[in-house]
Amino acid sequence: HLAPKSDIEISQAAKMRPIIDVARDKLGIPAEHVQPYGHYKGKISLDYISSLDSQADGKLILVTAITPTPAGEGKTTTTVGLTDGLNHIGKKALCCLREPSLGPCFGVKGGAAGGGYAQVVPMEDINLHFTGDFHAIGAANNLLAALIDNHIYWGGEPKIDSRRVAWRRVVDMNDRALRSIVSSLGGVSNGFAREDGFDITVASEVMAIFCLASDFADLQRRLGDIVVGQTREKKSVRASEVKAAGSMAALLKDAISPNLVQTLENNPAIIHGGPFANIAHGCNSVIATKAGLKLADYVVTEAGFGADLGAEKFFDIKCRKAGLKPDITVIVATIRALKMHGGVAKDDLKAENVAAVEKGFENLKRHIGNVRKFGVPVLVSINKFSSDTAAEMAALDKLCKAEGVECVVADNWGSGGAGAADLARAVVNTIETQPSNFKPLYPDDMPLAEKVRTIAKELYGAADISYDSSIKARFAELEKEGFGNFPVCIAKTQYSFSTDANAKGAPSAFTIPIRELRLSAGAEFIVVVCGDIMTMPGLPKVPAANNIYVDDSGRIAGLF
Ligand code: ADP
Ligand code: MG
Repeated sequence: HLAPKSDIEISQAAKMRPIIDVARDKLGIPAEHVQPYGHYKGKISLDYISSLDSQADGKLILVTAITPTPAGEGKTTTTVGLTDGLNHIGKKALCCLREPSLGPCFGVKGGAAGGGYAQVVPMEDINLHFTGDFHAIGAANNLLAALIDNHIYWGGEPKIDSRRVAWRRVVDMNDRALRSIVSSLGGVSNGFAREDGFDITVASEVMAIFCLASDFADLQRRLGDIVVGQTREKKSVRASEVKAAGSMAALLKDAISPNLVQTLENNPAIIHGGPFANIAHGCNSVIATKAGLKLADYVVTEAGFGADLGAEKFFDIKCRKAGLKPDITVIVATIRALKMHGGVAKDDLKAENVAAVEKGFENLKRHIGNVRKFGVPVLVSINKFSSDTAAEMAALDKLCKAEGVECVVADNWGSGGAGAADLARAVVNTIETQPSNFKPLYPDDMPLAEKVRTIAKELYGAADISYDSSIKARFAELEKEGFGNFPVCIAKTQYSFSTDANAKGAPSAFTIPIRELRLSAGAEFIVVVCGDIMTMPGLPKVPAANNIYVDDSGRIAGLF
């Protein structure tokens, strides 16, 4: 059955409870430890979270997906729906999500607060300014940029080579006009003209640091560790050397506390931090996830893109660094997307096609095998669409059984928590019967290039990686400077296991070419660029922004 209303109409009809009440009744947080931002949003105090240190952790559930297609998968919808489903069957569960960025919201994708009857609310606030965290992160980033240019202007020590400044300014908007600019034009008093550019806030290293920091002291330390550029002698200069870390941290003092909101069914949702899944690791903050594990028995969280990128980074970067141990991974798939992986064109998805489901299963199968390599039990959740047929479902069910994996249909988009009750029961049952033996894919001390090769061969199905002598030299330089123990953060297309976005399904016998290495010394990972990497997206010909307006009663409409 189709939901009769749009996402925003459903969300605006929600009966929200004051956030203080949700915090107290669902999570036992006393009112004085929730700082309300209006009636329906609140920040949970870090002091309160630390007071829970001795409590046992709940179970950690990762929601990831098959390789995305334009047909849409529904990870956030499933994350929210499963949270409501777990509460529906009597469990104490919350979800941890990323904060949406304004870029995609006004671009192609629309909002990122779930869909149908599985949403977090207030949807407009969450998608727009929320509690101001992204403004704070952007300000911290830009304060550092201003301090760097000022340092150069006054000739401070160490002398930063203005041609080797690696730090860019940010704005939380898809604005291609700012990708490459010339700054400091206009004469002597304006500094040294140089090529510069903007990234979108969510692509900034400050965002990645914000999401990986274990506490405030760790945040401040990491901000100081950022490498902002080099001297003429090519010696790295850190943010601490332009004395930026303290003031940046001051700007982030309130933002660092996790935000509490609720689902349509009044269950708790923590939404905090939102790094890109290409240049960064694509999951909400470590502080939020750890808080969630102290506050609830089940924490459902989402990683960006498909499991080859999102789940891999969740495991190899976030869980490794934060000491988290995921208990189960739910891989979201849709019949529609499997058919696309099986070669069906977008316009032909409505017609039944069992053979295409069977062929497209190759993609899901590889993701299942990949997650198992991390020692984590797997469950497949089919996000139900009205066009799915019984024969297609039966075929998929059989294929999953042959892999020894349970496959559950979830109709949370159409029916909320009740529609995800079967999924919730299957998740609980799997957690209770299948132990997780989580371990990262590669050890810290493996050479950097070998880490990339391991991911490419083991997870992507590549024959090998390739790189030229300049990349080889850069690997050596990074290891010599002491960054060899960092995990790698692979930036490649999310639309294929390979670097060819058109290679759907489960391609093999391809090579992953490494184009560039970028050091994120504060976030403590090395970004390995394998293809075009977009750190400042543009808007499409007809952006979502064109349809958004405020109606006569003051309500936002057209946001989706
Ligand atoms: P992801 O997190 O994987 O990017 P979302 O959960 O944000 O995906 O869903 C993307 C869009 O697809 C949302 O607008 C949502 O309303 C829609 N959607 C999700 N599941 C369904 C479904 N079962 N039927 C119809 N639309 C859906
Ligand atoms: Mg999502």
